[in-house]
Amino acid sequence: MREHLELYVGGRWTDPAEPRTMDVVNPATERVCGRVAAGSAADVDRAVAAAREAFAGWSTTAVKDRLTVLHEVLNAYRERADDLAEALTEEMGAPTALAHGAQVQLGLGHLTTAIEILGNFAFEEQRGATLIVREPIGVCGLITPWNWPLNQIAVKVFPALATGCTMVLKPSEQSPFTGQIFAEVLHAAGVPAGVFNLVQGDGPGVGVPLASHPDVDMVSFTGSVRAGIDIATNAAPSVKRVTQELGGKGPHIVLDDDAFARNVGKGVVALMGNSGQTCSAPSRMLVPAARMEEAVGLARQAASGVTVGDPRGDAMMGPVSSAAQFEKVQALIRRGIEEGATLVIGGTGRPEGLERGYYVRPTVFAHVTQDMAIAREEIFGPVLTLHGYDDVDHAVRLANDTEFGLAGHVAGQDLDTARDVARRIRAGWIAINEGFDFGCPFGGYKKSGNGREWGEFGFHDYLEVKGILGYAPAGAGPG
Ligand code: NAD
Repeated sequence: MREHLELYVGGRWTDPAEPRTMDVVNPATERVCGRVAAGSAADVDRAVAAAREAFAGWSTTAVKDRLTVLHEVLNAYRERADDLAEALTEEMGAPTALAHGAQVQLGLGHLTTAIEILGNFAFEEQRGATLIVREPIGVCGLITPWNWPLNQIAVKVFPALATGCTMVLKPSEQSPFTGQIFAEVLHAAGVPAGVFNLVQGDGPGVGVPLASHPDVDMVSFTGSVRAGIDIATNAAPSVKRVTQELGGKGPHIVLDDDAFARNVGKGVVALMGNSGQTCSAPSRMLVPAARMEEAVGLARQAASGVTVGDPRGDAMMGPVSSAAQFEKVQALIRRGIEEGATLVIGGTGRPEGLERGYYVRPTVFAHVTQDMAIAREEIFGPVLTLHGYDDVDHAVRLANDTEFGLAGHVAGQDLDTARDVARRIRAGWIAINEGFDFGCPFGGYKKSGNGREWGEFGFHDYLEVKGILGYAPAGAGPG
């Protein structure tokens, strides 16, 4: 049992204002595996005050000094990498290989990227007589979800630190252990007191007061559309900046070529990773209608090879994160069957032999039409939908027929076509043949949010832009 009954405020571990705690349930066992302090509005007030006090100093540190701190964070993060991975397995059921691999490595990648960018970032730019200055926006409220908890904390905290902001982090109440260890990492690295603060708690208790706080200058949020709208509404009276990374319904256009079989198989496995709980996952696979039956066979074969089981073992897929998530996914699978989609493999109920734990059967639906709930709603589980397209134009129309616009995927040998399709998808992040890059901007069109994270683009969310006219010496500019 893990017990973390203190919050991290002003560089110290302190008791929450009210002695409340939250239980954390291990989704593989359905048993309580720890508890953490549940903060409240009073704790948010203290943490924001600490961040405000630290802002004057941290925002004016030289870049080289911030780089020194980030290098210390890198050392401390590496030292705790195994602890972070174990915590991920306990709190959200991430298989050991995924936790040690992708989950921890993503955090590391964001940190080394932030260090690289900070070393060369143009905080100032002279344009004629005008000076453009990019200044840290101030105190930031960072609210994160449970699905890639470490990635989502890292992609906010590291650019905020690098740009000279101070912050209050509220991790998801379902995955608070990673947030806890992350705070220990920053403390061990010597991040100055008040620059980073951690207030654990739920949405109503901590998220709402953080979003509405008049002394918070910006809120960076990743999570559901529902909470994103609530946060923007609560933030509006103080006119703070709000960046949102929300849901997705990623199309995956598989082109008609010799790599078709391989691409269908890879797409199925990619969707099932992290039990389908990835906002950018290739969850809607679009295949040539004439090859639908072939795709059905290939998808069945690929899904049947996805092993499900105890995340501490070598199964490819663990459980989904919670009872609520399990019920949501089950309900959508039922809906798909009721609405007439063809169930290719999987379905409701747990996989055989797994009576305990929120395990979902790897599921594929075929002949899915746009009016079905499984085609429109974010399932956030290991459920793939197969859709037939007549030609590439039709594929693009289907890809864009969604209220989301976070990610898109294109797989195929003809790179000209793949590039053309990628340009025509209305989404912020498109991967051709599983491309990946820490410097590529990540964020959504439409209801998938606004703002861009990752790489240099992630820095801009935390910066104000100031223009100073007549800055150049007399005669040096246009006057
Ligand atoms: P969620 O919206 O329920 O919770 C996310 C965070 O917001 C948690 O910390 C929660 O406590 C907090 N919160 C909830 N209600 C709040 C409120 N009214 N005010 C302030 N804070 C509040 O989402 P979740 O279930 O944790 O995560 C799953 C969702 O996140 C999915 O929809 C997924 O697509 C999305 N997501 C998006 C991205 C992206 O980059 N676009 C990445 C990962 C996850």
